[in-house]
Amino acid sequence: MGELGHKDWIEKATAIRFRNKAFIDGNWVAARSGRTFASVNPATGETLAEVASCGQEDIDLAVAAARRSFESGVWSRVAPAKRKEVLLRLAQLLRENLHELALLESLDMGKLVNDAATIDVPGSATIFQWYAEAIDKIYDEVAPAGVGDLVLVRREPLGVIGAVVPWNFPLDMATWKCAPALAAGNSVVLKPAEQSPFSALRLAELAMEAGLPAGVLNVVPGLGETAGQALGRHMDVDCLAFTGSTPVGKMFMQYAGQSNMKQVWLETGGKSPNLVFADCRDLDAAADMAAFGIFFNQGQVCSANSRLLVQREIKDALVEKLAQRAAEMQPGDPLDPASRMGAMVDANHTTNVMRFIEAGRKTAQLVAGGEQVTVNGRGSFVQPTIFDGVSPDDPLARDEIFGPVLSVVTFDEEDEAVRIANDSIYGLAASLWTDSLSRAHRIAGRLRAGTVSVNTVDALSPMTPFGGFKQSGFGRDLSLHSFNKYTALKTTWIKY
Ligand code: NAP
Ligand code: MG
Repeated sequence: MGELGHKDWIEKATAIRFRNKAFIDGNWVAARSGRTFASVNPATGETLAEVASCGQEDIDLAVAAARRSFESGVWSRVAPAKRKEVLLRLAQLLRENLHELALLESLDMGKLVNDAATIDVPGSATIFQWYAEAIDKIYDEVAPAGVGDLVLVRREPLGVIGAVVPWNFPLDMATWKCAPALAAGNSVVLKPAEQSPFSALRLAELAMEAGLPAGVLNVVPGLGETAGQALGRHMDVDCLAFTGSTPVGKMFMQYAGQSNMKQVWLETGGKSPNLVFADCRDLDAAADMAAFGIFFNQGQVCSANSRLLVQREIKDALVEKLAQRAAEMQPGDPLDPASRMGAMVDANHTTNVMRFIEAGRKTAQLVAGGEQVTVNGRGSFVQPTIFDGVSPDDPLARDEIFGPVLSVVTFDEEDEAVRIANDSIYGLAASLWTDSLSRAHRIAGRLRAGTVSVNTVDALSPMTPFGGFKQSGFGRDLSLHSFNKYTALKTTWIKY
């Protein structure tokens, strides 16, 4: 597919169709209550569509459909090679509908359409393909019990998986849950965030087109407090996989304890440190990646490198380079491939981010950005913003702002850097820059984070586990390890 220009994207956007009903048991259905919510384009403030707002009754229907499909064996007991074939076809369909999916993503939550088309959508297709290919290559175990006993240890799908996901990478977050859960033979009920329902609905439709039987993947748009909570408290959901904020993650643990003790897996917030040592060989690369690490997706990234810890000798030089990069990354129309940053997800979130920036002006030195802006006179946009001289105790250095706001903290010694880096309730990711192999290993071993990137940021791939330490959650998305969340071990002991 050739590259599209600004005009092409605008033209495609005017022709796009939004699926706005729930997808339950292979059918498009309105919420039983008739309720809807507005899905707004944050780059323009326009309502894109009114979307079914699912409540308890709708969740009951979706879970019942998922349970029926699971028990019937139409998916859970088909040959692995067949499941593989369907999910490979889905990966292909995602690629064939790349432009549409990228646009849905961009219009719905403000990200750059070019990023969606080159990162989010291809990433989702790759992950479906990766799990599809894994299906017929994983062997179960035979325990070493000895002659006269044959002991099989097998993985079985759990049953009905509830998935509740956020708005920052709507298609990818849905994929990170659905691909391994479906590959393992489960049925799924997926609740997308209210800010970003469209790509999840389209995904379910494409999955049916690929051959996934009705009822195996259901999508229930709705509000967290109603649809999300109903799924979390449901007595017939076996496992709830969540990506979102730490406070809501804690609620899902309570819901489980107050209902059927379903397994809960949480991928939650972060305040990831990026440590740059004076022996970093390429300060320009460090500046490029530090800027990417906090400004990509408008900083709305769980593993955003929001704390830059810099050794004093190189601090001024690095901050100067970063300020230049920030100046070049001003927000623009998300449909313009030339834009470097898109819109914030919505007006409320923009207000929250601006509150941190206003407070920061009094406690640290603003060296770039700091303003809320509009594009073509509309929308919710925030400039790439950098604060220098941030104290490790400042909210700028402690709270997950989830916006394009970088906090620079200066350190002198390695031990001090590690202590500041680990002094957080979060432990999702960390990065470090050094030319010393010994230092890289020494520090990587001491950082309390699920992923440590050395001389890069946000290293990520389908083949590596992704998830947090501490209040960034537990359980791992991606890699073969994620099957641990969606399967149970069964022992079958045969005497002969
Ligand atoms: P959020 O407010 O926690 O929402 C996440 C999901 O939970 C949404 O679908 C939301 O529905 C639902 N929800 C909200 N309140 C609920 C409740 N009381 N009961 C049940 N469900 C509820 O998070 P967000 O603002 O969408 O996303 C930002 C957060 O996600 C950040 O903290 C970020 O770090 C985290 N995140 C983590 C990862 C990771 O892998 N660790 C990846 C991406 C994002 P509604 O939107 O409809 O309210
Ligand atoms: Mg929300």
